Amino acid sequence: MEKDNGTNHSGYRSGTRNRYNGGSGNSSRDRYNNGSGSSSHNRYNNGNGSSSRGSYNSRSRYSGGNRRRPRRRRRNNVFLFFVTGAVVLGVLTTVFLLLKIVLPANEKKEQPVTVPKTAAVNVVKDYLTPNPYSRPQDPLTKINGVVVHYTANPGTDAEANRNYFEGLAEAAAGKSNPTYASSHYVIGLDGTIIQCIPLTEISYASNDRNDDTVSIECCHPDSTGKFTPDTYQSLVKLVAWLCGEYNIHSDGIIRHYDVTGKMCPKYYVEHEDEWDSFKMDVEDYIDKNGTTATQAP
Ligand SMILES: [Zn+2]
Repeated sequence: MEKDNGTNHSGYRSGTRNRYNGGSGNSSRDRYNNGSGSSSHNRYNNGNGSSSRGSYNSRSRYSGGNRRRPRRRRRNNVFLFFVTGAVVLGVLTTVFLLLKIVLPANEKKEQPVTVPKTAAVNVVKDYLTPNPYSRPQDPLTKINGVVVHYTANPGTDAEANRNYFEGLAEAAAGKSNPTYASSHYVIGLDGTIIQCIPLTEISYASNDRNDDTVSIECCHPDSTGKFTPDTYQSLVKLVAWLCGEYNIHSDGIIRHYDVTGKMCPKYYVEHEDEWDSFKMDVEDYIDKNGTTATQAP
């Protein structure tokens, strides 16, 4: 019975089956069985697994033309899936890249633009010759403040005071008690700023604060010690620049007087309100112009 069914099936299914089963089955049987063979039979036989069936089943897999189409469709679906995926990925990448290019520009537009407008503070660098009396070249490792001085030498200009510092080494020869003095900057009567010592080295101007401050000597036309408007304006700009450069706040702007009690700078010790308004002028200048100079003093 099983064998018959087997031949039935083979006959029903394909020519190769016929050839395979041809040994046992005859042509009339084949024809007969072809007639009686139904789909239910097929299904039934597929269920019964025997060794011969096994080979049959493998056959049916071989000859199962119906199953190839779905597989092809599946393959097509997989292909479509990957193509679609690739396209989507490409689009997403493009959008991402576009956003990356566009967004920073938008951010820049949205952010308030702060342009440092502090005018260049013109500084003439005329460093002293290194010497133990005015330029010892001791490193200035930190800058916590700015100390304002007056020259106490009415009518003298920036260069004369710079040269005085330069000459201290020579003047010290043979003296038992030589003078040690200097300043990072000297501001002249016309507002010219001469830098005598780089900001990486200490100056001899502010006693205990030499090791953490920048010193500025201001020229003055007379014994009152009041600065000329040009000297004053250059001092405001220079101090503003230093405040920005070294993150110095209002309380870091001091007088020599605030270090040692010396009457220096004379006019701004005698007139406390003038000193206060000077510090206000520095703050106003920073508020209006920023603190970043286009040219370092
Ligand atoms: Zn002083």
